[in-house]
Amino acid sequence: MKSEKKIVIVGNGLAAWLSAAMISYEIKEKKANHRVCIVESKKTLPVGVGEGSIPSLVPVLERLGIDLTKINATYKLGIEYTNWYSEAASPFNKWYHTFSFPGWMEENLSAMINYDNFFSKIEKASDEEKSKSLLDNAYALHFDTHCLTQELKKKVLLSGYCDIIPGTVNKVNLSEEGIQSINLDNETVLKGDYYLDCTGFNRVLISQFDPKFTDYSNVLLCNSALAFVQEPKEEKITFTVATALSSGWKWEIPTTEKTGHGYVYSSEFISEDEATKELLASVGVSENKSLNIKKFAWEPKILERPFIKNCFAIGLSSGFLEPMEALSIDITRNLIQNFLSHLFFHRNNDSLNRKISSYAKEAVDYLAAHYQLSKRSESPFWRYYSSNVKASPGMIKKISDCKHRYLKRHYPWSEPELHHRKDFPWNTDNIFRPHSWIVMLAGMNADR
Ligand SMILES: Cc1cc2nc3c(=O)[nH]c(=O)nc-3n(C[C@H](O)[C@H](O)[C@H](O)COP(=O)(O)OP(=O)(O)OC[C@H]3O[C@@H](n4cnc5c(N)ncnc54)[C@H](O)[C@@H]3O)c2cc1C
Repeated sequence: MKSEKKIVIVGNGLAAWLSAAMISYEIKEKKANHRVCIVESKKTLPVGVGEGSIPSLVPVLERLGIDLTKINATYKLGIEYTNWYSEAASPFNKWYHTFSFPGWMEENLSAMINYDNFFSKIEKASDEEKSKSLLDNAYALHFDTHCLTQELKKKVLLSGYCDIIPGTVNKVNLSEEGIQSINLDNETVLKGDYYLDCTGFNRVLISQFDPKFTDYSNVLLCNSALAFVQEPKEEKITFTVATALSSGWKWEIPTTEKTGHGYVYSSEFISEDEATKELLASVGVSENKSLNIKKFAWEPKILERPFIKNCFAIGLSSGFLEPMEALSIDITRNLIQNFLSHLFFHRNNDSLNRKISSYAKEAVDYLAAHYQLSKRSESPFWRYYSSNVKASPGMIKKISDCKHRYLKRHYPWSEPELHHRKDFPWNTDNIFRPHSWIVMLAGMNADR
């Protein structure tokens, strides 16, 4: 019989419960003897925001048996970027980052020269055509993060592999192997073989190792957000809508029970009061209406090594860039899968850390390009981007490859074909494949 390992998870947010659910699932599948315990603190609340996802989360939720109606899910075919190219609001100042090029768009793909047709084709597609694309697996979900956390918790409790320990960590005891034990505020002392730090920006466990971060605040200027919810809209929206504003951008995300709105901005360029006014005006809500507006702040940085000794930073504790492209929960999924390959296949921390760090770097290039390719100049925020922020060598290479190899050519390709091309400039593990860059370059008129 294989030896039993005890995995201690600290946290009560989405990262903690997703970790507990995925690990419990694998313990059952592999008939292992490991045990999970989760330290649940009622003293600090989870961030409880983040309604967007990317396609790789869908099979995970399916495998875990999550009922989509219980998390108020709607289908997401991608992101509609509005007013990013310039500040002039016009029907042409819009582009779509679809998750793939499904069949119903193919006709336009073979004539990539006409981008306006390509994007208007997406706009005009009927629900039937869009649902066909769902069959191509080219979809993600919008959902209620709080409901998802609760559903995951139910699954974990039913699995029988996890114990819940109430309390808040107030001391971490170290040894040669990393963490030896943790003390809770109710006198409990917990010992484990592995410790998962899911304590969000508090980073209660991983901070004991004085870890280094890669700071991206020179290219990703946004560091704050305001968010509120409204009644759901009647019209069906199958895209997250991301609209550029004076000092960042605004999201609009539909779930079945509400529409989420949020302004992601840089506090260096706009005050909270001004940002609130701009957000409400953009949604068409009166300033006097009492809304429960939530505030968030972060530093755009990622841990260089989220896995140190027997401590694994998962979720926001490993870092956060910004909400654009809804990557954070997927990065969490990726970290958990990497932890599982350490637990079950003994993959070493160094190779996993390298993999995670390259995933983050690629993501930064793609996010930063949204701002750097924009021709907006109406405010100090956008002018700062155009005069002070330099493109990274990785970004320059990708843009140049796209322009010269793909954009100007006229040949009917599909995404899988592109993946197998020998001169393909990115490795296929990359989250942002050529089609993501191509639609952005086309949408931002970068090839003209
Ligand atoms: C404005 C904004 C928008 C976002 N939008 C998206 C999106 O669209 N898509 C997406 O994928 N992601 C998004 N995210 C990220 C997403 O919210 C997080 O990835 C996700 O909620 C997981 O958070 P977490 O569990 O890591 O941290 P938290 O939710 O912060 O949870 C941390 C937990 O740790 C516990 N804790 C803290 N200290 C202690 C202690 N000493 N002892 C015990 N427990 C402790 C707290 O009680 C809490 O339960 C967004 C984030 C922000 C800020």
